[in-house]
Amino acid sequence: MNKPLNFVLIGKSGSGKGTQAKLLMKHFGNPFYISTGDLFRGLAKTDTAAGKKIKKIMLKGELPFDDLAITLWMHEIMYKVKEDQGFILDGAPRRLTEAEALDELLELLERKETTFILLIDISREEAFNRLSKRRICKKCGRLIPWIGEFKDLKICDKCGGELKIRLDDSPEAINCRLDYYNKIVSKVIKYYQDQKRLIRINGEQSIEDVFKSILKALNDYY
Ligand SMILES: [Zn+2]
Repeated sequence: MNKPLNFVLIGKSGSGKGTQAKLLMKHFGNPFYISTGDLFRGLAKTDTAAGKKIKKIMLKGELPFDDLAITLWMHEIMYKVKEDQGFILDGAPRRLTEAEALDELLELLERKETTFILLIDISREEAFNRLSKRRICKKCGRLIPWIGEFKDLKICDKCGGELKIRLDDSPEAINCRLDYYNKIVSKVIKYYQDQKRLIRINGEQSIEDVFKSILKALNDYY
């Protein structure tokens, strides 16, 4: 039996890594999907001391302490990923300590060689445009990306609802997120690059072409 493949998706907000994660899931027979953003939002909804605190921190647009992110995704991998199942980590690691913790876990699971680090690369300008112009459906909450044919949508393509700009996508909030990326996530990128494990994908293409580039790059590895 072949060892299951695992994917780590890194990229600025707006790079479309969540969309690519879904395509990878389809293509590789449903690896277990882990989104750190979803995990934080899930925790913020719980009626626990931690949940209430995290909710306040997230509303201010700040990030909880380093070990919390590690705890959340590590718990998911430990408790939910089956022996013959791969996983996709979307939105982590964002910090160097997280990347190092992930490597220790991958070594424990003997999955370091079968884990691919994919950077969906878009420029800061492109990220800013996508984030400031993307819209959300008032009725069903679907997030409409500012990319390709979605730019021309006048109403929601799923339910026909009215579209509006997201409130938390103010220019200040977007710049804050992109500054964080430049300052902190860039260290994680360098960490993988120095070890020659980083697979850089041009994210400024259509969704289909980004995915084709991923598959082509993976082909060179296995
Ligand atoms: Zn809708």
